[in-house]
Amino acid sequence: MQDFKKERLAMVEEQLRRRGIHDQRVLDVMAKIPRHFFVSHEHQHAAYEDRPLPIGEGQTISQPYMVAVMTQTLELYGDERVLEIGTGSGYQTAILAELAKTVFTIERIQTLIQGAQKTLQELGYENIFFLTGDGTKGWPENAPFNGIMVTAGAPEVPLTLTSQLAEGGRLVIPVGPRYTQTLYKVTRKGNQFKEEDITGCVFVPLVGDFGWKE
Ligand code: SAM
Repeated sequence: MQDFKKERLAMVEEQLRRRGIHDQRVLDVMAKIPRHFFVSHEHQHAAYEDRPLPIGEGQTISQPYMVAVMTQTLELYGDERVLEIGTGSGYQTAILAELAKTVFTIERIQTLIQGAQKTLQELGYENIFFLTGDGTKGWPENAPFNGIMVTAGAPEVPLTLTSQLAEGGRLVIPVGPRYTQTLYKVTRKGNQFKEEDITGCVFVPLVGDFGWKE
């Protein structure tokens, strides 16, 4: 029988720590969360491999390393209100729920958010709020957020999202052409927004009013 725990610990050492992920909270939480719960039975054998996997509806659960880079970039200490756009399987949502106080997550595809909600409830998370809809509009009723993570590629940084950042808040978002992007960190200081280029990446498109058109 496949030893998922052993594979998970090897993933953390070989794919994450060895490649420079240094936030111990991120490493610990990725050593704990059962990634194989978030993929269908047919993909479970590959749950800890160094790549994205299909989750249905043409969407993917991101590569573990990219999940770790994005989470580390958000700089979470435990007190934060975080908005996630692109719930997908719910794996990244679980990581955020472990590292922040409250997570608000938006997904445009109803079957995906329903599946994610079921998995996250089974795992016992009680600090996650779900919304089906267009995340490019953010979630103004619950703003401001200390962290916003977008897990799909945007043509540009949506101002709807930067305007929902709290003072000192961080937005982590892939931006660029449809098939290859750069991961950016945008930090709010008053009405100034500092942009840092983190790494190259490839994401499915962010589809919505302030993203790509369908
Ligand atoms: N973080 C997810 C995980 O751990 O499984 C992977 C997310 S997948 C790479 C990107 C997700 O963004 C897809 O599920 C897609 O449907 C969703 N998405 C794309 N545009 C969106 C939008 N405007 N609002 C909300 N979700 C969106």
